[in-house]
Amino acid sequence: MKASLKGKTIVLTGGGGGIGRAAAQALAKEGARIALCGGNNIEKLEKTACLVKDCGAEVFVLPGDLTDFNFLENCIEKIASHFGQIDILINNAGIALNKPFEETTQADFDRIFSINVRAPFILCQKVLPYLRKSNHAAIINIASVVGHKGYVNQAAYAASKHALIGFTKTLANEVYTQNIRVHIISPGGVYTDMVKVVRPDLKEEGMILPEEIADIILFLLQSRGNAVIDEICVHRVGKQPFDV
Ligand code: NAD
Repeated sequence: MKASLKGKTIVLTGGGGGIGRAAAQALAKEGARIALCGGNNIEKLEKTACLVKDCGAEVFVLPGDLTDFNFLENCIEKIASHFGQIDILINNAGIALNKPFEETTQADFDRIFSINVRAPFILCQKVLPYLRKSNHAAIINIASVVGHKGYVNQAAYAASKHALIGFTKTLANEVYTQNIRVHIISPGGVYTDMVKVVRPDLKEEGMILPEEIADIILFLLQSRGNAVIDEICVHRVGKQPFDV
């Protein structure tokens, strides 16, 4: 049986991007209240907010840079005071980098880690007090198949997604008995702005659609029975099974 998301408050990072926008719409259609947390492209965030409203759902837009410590310190509290509660956090924002190992600079490394690892780490810490009060508490961290395998020219990105998966596994175990479910989704190539930059060799045809990842997010959040799913790995149709 599907658990209802009606009235649940969901904090979503990267809501202006490909997967984030599709997820926001899918969750809004189920009656969830959406906080679009972080993002410097206000136009893209506002566009997602309009689409959420079109679905008849409540939305709160909180633009900001996830590398900014002040923003990370305060955003969860601001969302909680706006909606009065938080049930679910989806750490979706991320950046990628297509550079040979030796050319990757310290600045590249620090930036990718601050967005892909530090921000979700801190947001998880900040949100836990609120999730403990919810009867539908969940965290979804969007990792990548790159978090399972070493792709050429993606050392910093791969390291960041391995790190994200690493802390998520620990967190999942630490809060499991508190009825907080923690999931990882590790997608392969999804047709968004990010993949067009990182993997220009991939053709649109055969790529995963953002809406397909949104459906998986929905499935995870609506599954509150005795079958608990920790991680879902998703590969493109053109890849061999189990070869992420
Ligand atoms: P996208 O580029 O369309 O969206 C990324 C989002 O992250 C954007 O909304 C952007 O504003 C936000 N973001 C980036 N830096 C930020 C910062 N400093 N502060 C606030 N927000 C920031 O890409 P996408 O494909 O939708 O990616 C979403 C997630 O999926 C990422 O974590 C990505 O690593 C992961 N992923 C993507 C693919 C793929 O092929 N597209 C595959 C596996 C995993």
